[in-house]
Amino acid sequence: MTTLAQRIARWPKAELHLHLEGSIRPATLCELAARHRQPMDAETVAALYRYHSFRGFLNAFKRVTALLRTPDDYALITQRLTEELLAQNVIYAEVIVSAGVMLRRQQDVEANFAAICEAARPAERRGLRLAWSFDAVRQFGLAHIWRVARLAVQLGSQGVVAFGVGGDETALPTRSLQPVYEFVAAHGLHRLIHAGEIGPPSAVREAVEVLGCERIGHGIAALRDPHLQALLIEHGTVLELCPTSNLRTGALARQLRRRKAGLRDHPLPQFFRAGIPVVLATDDPALFETTLVREYEQAARLGLSVGELRRLAAMSFRAAFLPERARRAMLRRFRAAC
Ligand SMILES: [Zn+2]
Repeated sequence: MTTLAQRIARWPKAELHLHLEGSIRPATLCELAARHRQPMDAETVAALYRYHSFRGFLNAFKRVTALLRTPDDYALITQRLTEELLAQNVIYAEVIVSAGVMLRRQQDVEANFAAICEAARPAERRGLRLAWSFDAVRQFGLAHIWRVARLAVQLGSQGVVAFGVGGDETALPTRSLQPVYEFVAAHGLHRLIHAGEIGPPSAVREAVEVLGCERIGHGIAALRDPHLQALLIEHGTVLELCPTSNLRTGALARQLRRRKAGLRDHPLPQFFRAGIPVVLATDDPALFETTLVREYEQAARLGLSVGELRRLAAMSFRAAFLPERARRAMLRRFRAAC
C-alpha cells in the first residue's frame, strides 16, 4: 500500500515560497558554527529553533543568519537545500534570498549570490530548475529597501526574477513602498511581498491595489475580510500559504485574535474552495521543522481530497514566474506522473 506521503513524494513539484536562510537544518548550523569557531552543541541549536512568537521567530532567523559570513557559507547552505529539494522530487523552486540581511552585515551581495548560483549548478544539472527572489527587510527602512531593489534589478540577468519585502510587516506603511515597486516592475522584475501574515487585511489590499503584487506571502488576514477575498479572486492574486509556519510563528492565532490556534483553524481549505488562487509552501522548512511533502500532508489533514491536492500542486506551476513554454512542459510532466 502506498501512503499519501509516498504518493505526493513521487509527484514532480514546484515550491514558490522558500527562504534560503530558513532552510538551514540544525546539523548544517552546527557545521557553520564550528567553521566560525563558535561551536554550538545540539541542545543550543534545538533551543534556538524553539520559539513561541513572531518576534521569537525573527530573533531565531537573525541568530541563524549571523553565522552566514562568507560566500562559502552561502554555497554550503545552497548545496544542502538543493539536495533536499531533489530528494522530494521538487523540479522547480523560487528561492528567496535575504539580500537585505547581507547588506545589513556589510557583505558583498554579488559575491554571495555568485557562490549561491555556482553551488546550485550540480542540482540544476540533475533536473532542478531554480529562480531567485531578492528580499528586503521592512524594519530596516526605505533607504535599505531601495538598495535591495537596485541590486535585484542589477542581478536580473543572473537569475533574479522577483523582488519582495519581508520582515516585520508593522514597521512601514505599505503605501510608502509604491515608488520602489514601480521601479522594479519597470525593470521587468516580478513583485512579491509578505503581507497579511501578522498585519491587517488592508496591508494585503494595498499590496494588490497600490504595489501591484502578483503573489502575496501568506495573506491569511484575508480570513477576516470577505471583500478582500473577492478582490484576490478578481485580480487573480495568488496567496502563498504556509500552514506550519503560521502555527509556529503564532501568526494564525494573531489573525484569529486568539491565544492559540490549531491546524484546523487554517483557512487553506476555505480559500481554496472559494476560488482564491493559492499555492502551498514551507516558508522556512528548517526553522519550522517541515518539508514540502509534509505541508501537503497537512493540507490532507485539513480535509483536501487527493484530487484537490493535485489541483493545488498544479497551481504552483501555474503561478510560477516561468517562461510559458517551460511552464507547459512542467505541467505535462506533472500530469503524466499523477
Ligand atoms: Zn516568508
